[in-house]
Amino acid sequence: MKHKKSIVALAVLIALGAGSVAAYSLHDGQHQQESSKVSDDQSNSSSSLKDLPKGVKSTDWDLVLVNKWHPLSSEMNFDKVTVSGKVVDARIKQAVLDFQNGARAAGYQTVLVSGYRSIQYQQEVFDNVKKNDMDEGMTDAQAEKATKAVVQEPGSSEHHTGLAIDIAGSDAFEKYPSLEAKMDTFDSQKWLINHAADYGFVLRYPEAKSKIKETGIDYESWHFRYVGVKNAKYMVKHNLTLEAYVKALKEAGR
Ligand SMILES: [Zn+2]
Repeated sequence: MKHKKSIVALAVLIALGAGSVAAYSLHDGQHQQESSKVSDDQSNSSSSLKDLPKGVKSTDWDLVLVNKWHPLSSEMNFDKVTVSGKVVDARIKQAVLDFQNGARAAGYQTVLVSGYRSIQYQQEVFDNVKKNDMDEGMTDAQAEKATKAVVQEPGSSEHHTGLAIDIAGSDAFEKYPSLEAKMDTFDSQKWLINHAADYGFVLRYPEAKSKIKETGIDYESWHFRYVGVKNAKYMVKHNLTLEAYVKALKEAGR
C-alpha cells in the first residue's frame, strides 16, 4: 500500500515537472503505526542533561523546530542560495559543501537530493497526490488520510526551513532513487550518518522506536538537519532528537 502510494506520488511529481527532486517528500510522510521495528534505545531524560552547551538558546536560528506539532503558518524569510543544484539557507552553504567534500575525501561521491521547499510547493504536491487518490475512487476523507501517510503536510516539513537536506551516497541513490531507509547498508551512507555532526548536521529521523515517537517521522537514513557543530556533537553524544534537545534547553530556561 505504502509502496504503491509512493509510486503514484512519484508519478504525480514527475508530471508536475519536479525533475531532479524525484525523491521529494514521499518519505517525509508522517510515521504510520505499522512500523515493525522493535529496536529501541534508552532515552535520556532531559533532567539528566546538566552540561548543555554554553551560549545556546532554544530560540537560535539553527535550532528552529518544525514538525507536525509545530507547523509553520507562513513562509520563512531567509537568504537562499543554490548549492550542488539545490536551494538552502545561505548560512549553511559552506557546511553543505564541507560535508560533501569530506565524503569525497573519504572516497564517497554524494548527491544532494533535496533542500529548501516552500510551503506553497508542498501544498501543490499534497493537493496533486490527494486529487490522484480521489480520481482513483477514494472519498475526500480517505484521500486526505492516504496522502498524509506519504506526503508531509504543508507547513510541517522541515524542508521549509532551508536547514534540512536529503543527501545520499551516489551508489546508494542509484540503487534506491526514491530514497529508502536501507540506503544505510551502503558504506557511503554510513559515512554520512557517522560524520554528519563534524559538519554541523544530525540525522534528523533516527531508527529507534522511541525516537520515531519523538519526531513523528519514520526512520530516514538520508534526511539531515543543520544545527551547528556544537549542537550536533552534543545531540549525538547524548542521543537526542531535535525535539528532545529543544525541550531540554527550554526546561533549562534557555
Ligand atoms: Zn528530507
